[in-house]
Amino acid sequence: MKSLVFAANWKMNQAPADAEAFMRTFTAQYAKQQDRRVLFFPPAVSLHVCMAAVRTRSDLECGVQNIHWEDKGAFTGETSASLARGAGARHALIGHSERRHVFGETDAETNKKVAAAVRAGITPMLCVGEKLEEREAGKTLDVCLRQLRAGFEGIDAAHVASAMVAYEPVWAIGTGKTATPADAAEVHAALRAELVRMVGERGGAVPILYGGSVNRSNVEALIAVEDVDGVLVGGASLDAEQWLAIVRS
Ligand code: PGA
Repeated sequence: MKSLVFAANWKMNQAPADAEAFMRTFTAQYAKQQDRRVLFFPPAVSLHVCMAAVRTRSDLECGVQNIHWEDKGAFTGETSASLARGAGARHALIGHSERRHVFGETDAETNKKVAAAVRAGITPMLCVGEKLEEREAGKTLDVCLRQLRAGFEGIDAAHVASAMVAYEPVWAIGTGKTATPADAAEVHAALRAELVRMVGERGGAVPILYGGSVNRSNVEALIAVEDVDGVLVGGASLDAEQWLAIVRS
């Protein structure tokens, strides 16, 4: 049986009171399942609430949606990996497509952020994915593999091997359009092969999540795909009932 990761990316939603209500409902109804971990990526201001809710649960973990690459200093408005770690975060999304395409984050910046996460003892979840025009131009694998290599450039093999990757085609995020299982299979297989090339056999165990309009109706087909080791879910993770249905699939 493969081991699965279900990750909720709440984006800029769920204030502390909302997060608290959500976590109360979720933890009351969700019993640990041996084959899966559930990760929450709340907005930074609600991290403490989620941390408190998962304190006694080894199967539930929290992270942040973004970090800065510097450890500390005069960077008004930013959160470093070490600050996030100090607040209890175990994971950080890095290079989410909204960071790349709304805020102009570059491959080089994702690389510095991966390095910062590693320094702070946080697991990076490096997000990669092509835009619609890149898919239509037949560049899907080029783009995803470039983002993967660039994000992990210069990172030692042991830390790449303990990282996570998420494939999120930009055209599928928040649009209701999901990649077909066959589309996901092709990209996940290419990412897997590249990870194995980079770090050897250990690359076979790096979780590669799929994300982009995942919901309770399409999740089963996606997690059945070889090399899809879980899902990164935005919109459908905001409702506790819907999220419960997804993590139980
Ligand atoms: P979505 O977002 O599930 O709302 O498409 C996924 C993501 O951006 O991580």
